[in-house]
Amino acid sequence: MIKIISRLKNIRLKSKLAIVFILQILILFALGIMALRYINQAGQIDKQVHSGIILAMICTIIISITIIVVSFVYFSRNIAKQLKKEIQFAEELACGNLQEYIEVQSNDEIGLLAKALNKAAENTLGLVQKVADKEEELRQQMEELKITEEKLRISEERHRLALEGANEGIWDVDIKTKHIYISNRGQEILEIREYVDSDYFLIWELKKIIDLQDLKEFIRTIRSLIKNTTPFYHKEMKINTSNNQVKYILIRGKNIWDSKGQTVRMVGSISDITEKKKTEETINFLAYYNALTSLPNRVYINRKLPELIERLGMKNRKGAVLFLDLDNFKTVNDTLGHDAGDELLQKIADIFRTCIKANELVCHLGGDEFIFFTPNINKIDDAKEFANRLLNKFNKSFKVKDQELYVTASIGIAIYPVDGWNLETLLKNADTAMYQSKGKGKNGYRLFTREMNSKISERVTLQNNLRKAIEKNEFFIEYQPKIDIYTGRMESMEALIRWHNPNLGVVSPARFIPLAEETGLIIPIGEYVLETACRQNKLWQQAGNRPVRVAVNLSVSQFQQKNLVNYIESILKLTGLDPKWLEVEITESVVVNNFDRTIKILGKLKDMGIMVSLDDFGTGYSSLNYLRMLPLNALKIDKSFIKGLCSQSKESLIASSLINLAHGINLKVIAEGVENADQYNILKRYGCDEVQGYYFSKPVSANEFELLLRKTKAFKL
Ligand code: C2E
Ligand code: MG
Ligand code: MG
Repeated sequence: MIKIISRLKNIRLKSKLAIVFILQILILFALGIMALRYINQAGQIDKQVHSGIILAMICTIIISITIIVVSFVYFSRNIAKQLKKEIQFAEELACGNLQEYIEVQSNDEIGLLAKALNKAAENTLGLVQKVADKEEELRQQMEELKITEEKLRISEERHRLALEGANEGIWDVDIKTKHIYISNRGQEILEIREYVDSDYFLIWELKKIIDLQDLKEFIRTIRSLIKNTTPFYHKEMKINTSNNQVKYILIRGKNIWDSKGQTVRMVGSISDITEKKKTEETINFLAYYNALTSLPNRVYINRKLPELIERLGMKNRKGAVLFLDLDNFKTVNDTLGHDAGDELLQKIADIFRTCIKANELVCHLGGDEFIFFTPNINKIDDAKEFANRLLNKFNKSFKVKDQELYVTASIGIAIYPVDGWNLETLLKNADTAMYQSKGKGKNGYRLFTREMNSKISERVTLQNNLRKAIEKNEFFIEYQPKIDIYTGRMESMEALIRWHNPNLGVVSPARFIPLAEETGLIIPIGEYVLETACRQNKLWQQAGNRPVRVAVNLSVSQFQQKNLVNYIESILKLTGLDPKWLEVEITESVVVNNFDRTIKILGKLKDMGIMVSLDDFGTGYSSLNYLRMLPLNALKIDKSFIKGLCSQSKESLIASSLINLAHGINLKVIAEGVENADQYNILKRYGCDEVQGYYFSKPVSANEFELLLRKTKAFKL
């Protein structure tokens, strides 16, 4: 029975219902047969059978109904129960609870449904697994994405910070949409107030601030960048800001291509490089221009002039290089201060700037030296005319620090190609000519000549010989008496150096002293003179001669030495000469070099008992202020004033005024270069105190001078 029931489970519902139906039919059929047995041959049914049949049929119907009901109840309960389970399972499945499988109890539709549900659950589980796997994969990808995003964020932040730090703007152009992005900083740099991201707008805005030529070039380069003919863009541009200021920007860019190699985007930066540009300009200016006068400097001419000279050569034309040096500029610096000197140079530079033509050039080499170049030379006279044009500018005074200053200049001219083919030779020869001009009284110009070079080489020879002169003992001293104008007695003598070179003969101090000053050889020469003169004077005194002062000339360089006073003191000690028998002669150039220092040194020398005289008075700056302030004992009127002395001359007037003036401030007056009785008499009349000159004695050797010392008779009176 159980087997039958279990087998029943495996058949379909339809079959099950069919079985119940067939059972019904069979029962009815059985009942029918049974009823037929009780029907008699006559076909009559007795009453009892009839009621029995009726009863049996009723029973059969009841049984059938019962069977139907029971089987229906049984099946429906079973089905409902199974369905409930399956619904529950399906719900669980729908809710994602895939832990259990539903039990398959039959092979009918319910069982098949259960199987299908199990299959669905299995598939869903598989799917869920797949989804879970995918989810895991996604999660990992998400993780990676997050890391990448973080890296990107850091990188972007770094980039942003770097750009912000560098104060740069960004631009980004989409080639297809023509959308242009410019960062806020970029807009700020370009001074775009309202920004619309179209190329037309941008070009419109840029047109306002960028020079048209620059803009055209910018657009051209951008186009070639799009066409990939340029790898990247890099352009410095000048823009004019709204408040009329000049700003420099640097635009950099690079393009981005698609797979076909077509440019799709261009990205770059915009930097404000005004400061950098200005620094560059300053550096450039300092490199090529004189910082004081803003005129081109030596570096500039070294670059520019060879090119200009070459052009002259190609055109077979002449040109001229002029070397201009201001006369006595040092005096301005020394007396009025360096500020005044600078102001004067600036004023002169301004004048030079305006007096040259467009194709001419003026350069400031430094100090008081200027170079001019002119290609406008057809004949030599044109160069002379140019020089005169420059010199004429010095006819007027220059107002510096509320003072009217008169300055002159000396010019040397070298003509291309006769005096040189290249810049170096032309400059050298113009310089030589300028020195010649200085030597010939300054305030003028000289054209270079070949002979000048021989003079230069003569100078070099002189210099070389001078260096060896001390070691070779080629120097000696001559002494010249200074006579008291009233008594005719020798009061003093001037020690004058002499140089006897075996090859050059006797070289005048007027020739070698300036050279010795330039080369610094004046220091050992000066020491030699001071020591020899002091020793000689002491020797003469020791020999019983009447003591007289010995005057020694001190140069500018000697005065610049820190220990001059100590040195003089040590020499006096060494030679044993009493300071009162020493006299120092200084020139105005010593004074102007450092006025305050000179006052101090002279004060100390005077305090020691040494006599101080101002030599060659009238030839230099001749400031009466000096005379008043300097601790002097005497003033020596330069021989150039004595030369022209005669009763009515201008020199006589100057000499007499000088004598009166010097006496007015308690200075003794010594006249040098007295060559005749007339001069002597005039000077005596004017009240001059001492005289020195060939009229009494030429400078003589120590031996000869001793004879003069021994002379008891007065000098010519
Ligand atoms: P100074 O100091 O003015 O010397 C006077 C110059 O006048 C000397 O020239 C002398 O020989 C010259 N003299 C004297 N009387 C007459 C005269 O009647 N007529 C003419 N025409 N000249 C006369 P010297 O010896 O040629 O010296 C020239 C200059 O060289 C000196 O001018 C002085 O400035 C410098 N000097 C000479 N010896 C020394 C020295 O030992 N040290 C320094 N630093 N300079 C010296
Ligand atoms: Mg002198
Ligand atoms: Mg003199």
